[in-house]
Amino acid sequence: MMMNMPFSVPAMLEHAEKYFGKKYVVSRTSSGVTKITYKEISERTRRLASALTNLGIQKRERVGTFAWNHHRHLEAYFGIPGAGGVLHTVNIRLSPQHIVYVINHAEDTMLLIDEELLPLIENVQDQLTTVHTYIVMTDRPELPETTLKNVYHYEHLLQKGDPNFQFVEVEDENDPVGMCYTSATTGNPKGVVYTHRSTCLHSYGLGLVDTAAICERDVAMAVVPMFHANAWGMPYACVWFGSTLVLPGPMFTPKILLELIQEEKVTLAAGVPTIWIGLLQELERQSYDTSSLRAVLCGGSAAPKGMIDAFVNKHHIPFIHAFGMTETSPLATVSRLKAYQQGISMDEQLSYLTRQGFVAPGLEIKAIGQNGEIAWDGKEMGELLIRGHWIAAEYYNDERSEGAFENGWFYTGDVVTIDEEGSIKIVDRMKDMIKSGGEWISSVDLENVLMGHPAVLEAAVIGVPHDRWQERPIACVVLKEGVTVSKEELIEYLVPSFAKWWLPDEVVFMNEIPRTSVGKFLKKALREQLNNHFVS
Ligand code: ADP
Repeated sequence: MMMNMPFSVPAMLEHAEKYFGKKYVVSRTSSGVTKITYKEISERTRRLASALTNLGIQKRERVGTFAWNHHRHLEAYFGIPGAGGVLHTVNIRLSPQHIVYVINHAEDTMLLIDEELLPLIENVQDQLTTVHTYIVMTDRPELPETTLKNVYHYEHLLQKGDPNFQFVEVEDENDPVGMCYTSATTGNPKGVVYTHRSTCLHSYGLGLVDTAAICERDVAMAVVPMFHANAWGMPYACVWFGSTLVLPGPMFTPKILLELIQEEKVTLAAGVPTIWIGLLQELERQSYDTSSLRAVLCGGSAAPKGMIDAFVNKHHIPFIHAFGMTETSPLATVSRLKAYQQGISMDEQLSYLTRQGFVAPGLEIKAIGQNGEIAWDGKEMGELLIRGHWIAAEYYNDERSEGAFENGWFYTGDVVTIDEEGSIKIVDRMKDMIKSGGEWISSVDLENVLMGHPAVLEAAVIGVPHDRWQERPIACVVLKEGVTVSKEELIEYLVPSFAKWWLPDEVVFMNEIPRTSVGKFLKKALREQLNNHFVS
């Protein structure tokens, strides 16, 4: 028999403190870029945990953060659990109504807020029923002016905190350590609670060579927000493994990101496709040294083939396409070529990389279609089900758990095909599939090809009610600066790749495509806008 030692998130930081004390975090805040060693981060985190204890935090009590990616937010990742609490990373881009909902629903008692984001919380403070204390994270020596009541200055609290504070010991690895809310199509966001065990196992998952391969040698930049599925778990994995962690702070631009890549010699950068579209555009304008990058890690929505092509062939930056959800911690699948597939043509390789790929070890998948479990033939479609060590078992205090979690499986709401190799391809979200004349059209496939057109910057395809066909596709297109192309030319461009009835009936040119709080296309808004396009 083996020892049964509980997994512990604070122990991850203790590991960095012991073995990687000289390694550092590159943190961009409103006053500039600073480097803080893990030794300093650990001391500050102990001070934070002690300050929270002095403020009366109780075991399992939720403490919210409302912040960009920077070192103070990282300290909260470990300091809140280190004081026995549960970190709730509130998405700063939610609507005011949803901000109030998630904070009240999680019953956050304290809230750590970035100075720049104070107005968003000031506006809703009267509706927050459980928060009794606010802590402002700022570079300024004094508290900024605020209407919030019972407010503390983060750094002042730390000054009074104990640098040798002993983190609260984890007795049960299945105790909660963090929570995130995921957006729901209708209604309020849904809460997911992570445990010490799930967080540590997920971090091991990120370290596998065939997933993200995060390691000590990495200079890893989390562009993905720390309020979006815990920046995909990077803060935990990078600290534990001793990687240099780059946190790009508030209001970053593609230029700022490229400068960080160049100056800090970033080896791995992670973000959603819209980030990479912006970065590619900036690379067209000006050249930067990106030779340190061993890979760009992209997930959150489908990576179009043209974008992967540009990274791999034009800029010689390897591209890792991954799929996941808040409910899956989020690492679920990674697109990779197996050793015996390496010889296929570049075009085939790129097509393969647009797939979402293979499930990480420790997780299992299957898909359920109209006739039960689908065949692994790359054709039959079904809803993806997933289970494993870092997959949510339920939503937090939410009756919507019913239907989403059944017989030990999580129903993802994504429609997939699975090929003979076991590689999944997301056809669409169930709610975004277009039903035309009783047959399904994949909006993702159409977008993927459209975004390969040299004039197209972004494309989102939606199904719109139609008298005769039930729904028909409309393509919403944003063109690159200074180019023009007609609707007919774009449709013509799609002809070789699709059956005739798949082709969009309409192309609507736009200046920008509305986005969700985490930068994905907000198809709901497009559908509302174009709902009456075909029906009177
Ligand atoms: P939200 O529902 O707020 O977008 P998540 O960020 O958890 O919440 O998003 C999970 C969803 O994002 C998945 O169910 C899937 O539809 C989509 N997604 C994530 N990664 C990919 C990917 N690589 N390709 C296609 N879709 C993806």
